[in-house]
Amino acid sequence: MLVVKKFGGTSVGSPERILNVARRCVEDYRKGYDVVVVLSAMGKTTDELIKLAHTVNNRPPKRELDMLMTTGEQVSVAMMAIAMDAMGVRAVSLNAFQVAMHTTSKYGSARLKRIDTDRIMHELEDRKIVLVTGFQGVNKYDDLTTLGRGGSDTTAVALAAALHADACEIYTDVDGVYTADPRHVPTARKLKEITYDEMLELATLGAGVLHNRSVEMAKKYGVVLVVRSSLNLSEGTVVKENAKMERMLISGVAVDKDADRISVIGLKDQPGVAFRLFDVLAKANVNVDMILQSIGRDGTKDISFTCSNGDMDDAVRAIEANRERLQYKEINFNEDVAKVSIVGAGMMTNPGVAAKMFEALYNEDININMISTSEIRVTVLIDEKDADRAANAVHDAFGLAE
Ligand code: ADP
Ligand code: ASP
Ligand code: MG
Repeated sequence: MLVVKKFGGTSVGSPERILNVARRCVEDYRKGYDVVVVLSAMGKTTDELIKLAHTVNNRPPKRELDMLMTTGEQVSVAMMAIAMDAMGVRAVSLNAFQVAMHTTSKYGSARLKRIDTDRIMHELEDRKIVLVTGFQGVNKYDDLTTLGRGGSDTTAVALAAALHADACEIYTDVDGVYTADPRHVPTARKLKEITYDEMLELATLGAGVLHNRSVEMAKKYGVVLVVRSSLNLSEGTVVKENAKMERMLISGVAVDKDADRISVIGLKDQPGVAFRLFDVLAKANVNVDMILQSIGRDGTKDISFTCSNGDMDDAVRAIEANRERLQYKEINFNEDVAKVSIVGAGMMTNPGVAAKMFEALYNEDININMISTSEIRVTVLIDEKDADRAANAVHDAFGLAE
């Protein structure tokens, strides 16, 4: 039995918590299992390292920021190995370089390409617990990279796939995947199971409990995930291909406060205009999310779109730099917006789901700025100040409350 266990920042946030995690891992090890443990940086270390970088430079070079951030995970694995040693258990800490976790070159949001399993297998055969740094990799220049915030989940799933693990357990500070973020929606309920597709939508739309790439990868390689608490023995949530969704219309509500809206006003109402605008944005590496185009009037039209807060400056700069090519009247933007989404496979076969969501928002007197949908989700863009109230209202309107 080979098990990959991943523990997030809060779960290793103090020496006591590290000892707690060590005990849980040693328990499995003493049952005779092969145990591979992926760790995040302790507590808020990653945030603090980013802040630290900004004290000396407002725009820290991405390569150096990755070099800095990856130290956080290295502290965790070393501390864990030291704690396990005190328990008389043989353990070895490895960083991404030592394992050889190959990624694409892009600093700050690299993708895992290939993991060498030789070193890990060798250590397991030697009956050691193997402790691996989450969130980091090595690119073709032999530089350290990071996988994007929350990326340790992806490290764990990738390792589980590469090692053909029998189980992949994601330990965090909540008891599992809930119908909404339990920190903001007090009536949220823990799900027993959820499908990859629904989890992927929720994670992409702001449910930070799992890194969305980890879900994508779990689906691709058929890795069944269990999300559970590191602080109690509660059962957790299973993420897999087919789940019995307890016959619910929707399985969850997600909120993304990281969204910003940009509107380009007074564009010419003629062919090629949308192409030119989104071509400019693509070349500036801006990921565009929701798009809304107004109906043309008097030969002009407006196009609004959303992007993440991190891309906002680049987007505005690129549009302004191409003013002549794009020929618009003005551009305005709003950072105080949020996306609220409902996700559920049930909506494929049930009309009226969107209407029910809009009614819940209407009852709360919340105005909708933009709407987008897919087969299994409906997303609205609203004022950020209304986001939590909207999430609670929609959540309870669909009968998800406990
Ligand atoms: P870790 O450090 O363990 O990776 P994260 O902070 O990344 O932990 O993720 C856990 C957090 O995700 C929870 O504390 C919770 O507030 C948040 N969260 C958001 N949406 C959900 C959801 N649908 N179910 C459970 N937790 C959620
Ligand atoms: N420590 C990293 C972060 O805070 C990775 C992770 O926690 O998954 O984003
Ligand atoms: Mg996380």
